[in-house]
Amino acid sequence: MLNEPVTNVKGVGEKLATDLESMDIYTVEDLLFHFPSRYDVFEIKPLNELIHEDKVTIEGKVLNEPRLSFYGRNRSRLVFNVEVDHVVVQAVMFNRSFAKKHIKMGDLITLTGKWDAHRLQITVNHYKKGSADQQAEIQPIYSIKGEIKMGRLKKVIYNAIKEYDLQVTELLPETYLILYKLPGRMDAVKTLHYPENRQTLKHARRRFVYEEFLIFQLRMQLLKKWHREATEGNAQHYDPESLKLFINSFPFTLTAAQTKSLNQILADMKSPYRMNRLLQGDVGSGKTAVAAIALYASLTAGKQGALMVPTEILAEQHYQSLSELFKDRANVVLLTGSVKGKKRNEILKEIEEHQIDIVIGTHALIQKDVFFHDLGFAIIDEQHRFGVEQRRILRDKGLHPDVLFMTATPIPRTLAITTFGDMDVSIIDELPSGRKKVETYWAKENMFERILSFIGKRITDGEQAYVICPLIEESDKLDIQNAVDLFHQLQEYYPSDIQIGLLHGRLETSEKDKIMKAFVQNEIQVLVSTTVIEVGVNVPNATTMVIYDAERFGLSQLHQLRGRVGRGEKQSYCILIAEPKGDIGKERMKIMTETSDGFELAEQDLKLRGPGDFFGKKQSGLPDFKVADMVHDYRALETARKDAEEIVENNLLNDPSFQQLKYFLQTQGHFDSKLD
Ligand code: ADP
Ligand code: MG
Repeated sequence: MLNEPVTNVKGVGEKLATDLESMDIYTVEDLLFHFPSRYDVFEIKPLNELIHEDKVTIEGKVLNEPRLSFYGRNRSRLVFNVEVDHVVVQAVMFNRSFAKKHIKMGDLITLTGKWDAHRLQITVNHYKKGSADQQAEIQPIYSIKGEIKMGRLKKVIYNAIKEYDLQVTELLPETYLILYKLPGRMDAVKTLHYPENRQTLKHARRRFVYEEFLIFQLRMQLLKKWHREATEGNAQHYDPESLKLFINSFPFTLTAAQTKSLNQILADMKSPYRMNRLLQGDVGSGKTAVAAIALYASLTAGKQGALMVPTEILAEQHYQSLSELFKDRANVVLLTGSVKGKKRNEILKEIEEHQIDIVIGTHALIQKDVFFHDLGFAIIDEQHRFGVEQRRILRDKGLHPDVLFMTATPIPRTLAITTFGDMDVSIIDELPSGRKKVETYWAKENMFERILSFIGKRITDGEQAYVICPLIEESDKLDIQNAVDLFHQLQEYYPSDIQIGLLHGRLETSEKDKIMKAFVQNEIQVLVSTTVIEVGVNVPNATTMVIYDAERFGLSQLHQLRGRVGRGEKQSYCILIAEPKGDIGKERMKIMTETSDGFELAEQDLKLRGPGDFFGKKQSGLPDFKVADMVHDYRALETARKDAEEIVENNLLNDPSFQQLKYFLQTQGHFDSKLD
């Protein structure tokens, strides 16, 4: 059985088993599926094609008996000549005195090592008597931990394959193997460990990429289905006429993308299923407007709505804009940590008695003593800033409320499919017309004076500016000092009628709010800030954004910051001050100056930094694939998603050809009871 302890494999004793455990290998199956992390390919090429200092493989005839010499302590050097393509090449082997006995004059030999083109010399680290078996030799390289030697690991994997190969059962229906031209599971396992050539290796890899993605997507789709089925009887019968009137009261018409997203949301609300939807859209794309309409729909169905945001400043801004939109159509209230005492008690009472229709707030919204009369619609803005638990608490404040998540961080489709596979996704991928593009420049630090004078001119025209200093860790004293220094520098530079403000995470909330309000009211003209203003702040009169040490931010984050300007009628500017070291850093700055599409930037970020870095390693919650790579194998992921959808929709798992796959999901996917 494949789930036998790994010690049942020939050659695995207690000691080795302990080491294997540190690599998460406990069973025979774990060992068989511990695939190489990469491969070295040695290809025999003619001498004149070899590149100096490359790792190369050559084949030739030994011309003399190897000479062995010792030096230092226990160090040896073995030297012999080899004839390759009628040229004499010198082979040098260090600390392998034993090889003297193996290698004889006249032997045919294959050598792998570092090539010195000037001396026609190879420093050998791998040799094999005889001719190379094929044109290219592929060496699997395993990631290993602790004391284990790679040779030893290879040997026990070999033993495991010999003994257990027939027990590796096929999971995929034959029709899929034929359709996608994939090798069988057992063959693919063997090939990954012992690749014959590049072609078979490629197909074996392709097979597991697909298998891993399909299983992953099946899990997501099944979750999504159960999620829906569990919540029947939750249709919100909103009033389309009132809704139309409300939409017509807006000073603008919705963009096509807004309308499409709105219709998707309304369809969810009307349906008996509970909505679990993510609304994605760039800053300023009009998510709030869509959310407001959905909230209003819920009100006309006789329910209450809630909007939870991560910061007080953002809550206040949402409160202002929504109060204005709703005017006397709804009772809107703000509930944040600064609402206390009697005022708070009053509000809580009104929420519970349904005198309040819509509550906008921070974490204060999910405190134990907040009770809704009938919460039907909950919105969570900047959803990635909240934990799973906090989202659940808000949801549980109602009886199966529809939940809409919003994010202004454009998430590449690749990641959205995986991270939010159990959510439906709506995307607003166009900005309202007439928006001016933010002109973006990349500057060096020595241009700072010029930048300051540029800002000075904008201020004379009555505009405002942000100057951002990166703050990587909230506790990073040095970074705060940078912001403070910059603040003083600007105070000195500008005449005293220009007010400079300073905002950073160490300030009290009330202090932050005071400064932010002063900036909103143009009492402060230049706001020096760490990244605390990143989320959602709206000051249309601010037209310039300077970002210091821009190379320390991700592209998506830079784009978020840049979204703080360009919110009004006037032309806006973003100046990135950066001295990136490597080519990737330079490339990133260039992309920022050329691209204003958040989704494209997110894709680029993903390509340049990888998925782990995209959200930050910890909160990414990305699945760990053994073979597949979400960025690189993106197209296979799409295919697997479509197939999984079809399988779940048509209940194919009950088909005999899916028996093994279903069994696998039952035993390894924690879906035991539900899949019966
Ligand atoms: P987001 O929440 O996606 O950042 P908002 O909903 O706050 O975007 O919209 C940004 C600004 O654009 C607001 O001032 C809003 O009134 C305005 N707006 C929203 N939708 C439209 C539209 N279709 N046409 C013109 N202006 C719009
Ligand atoms: Mg918004």
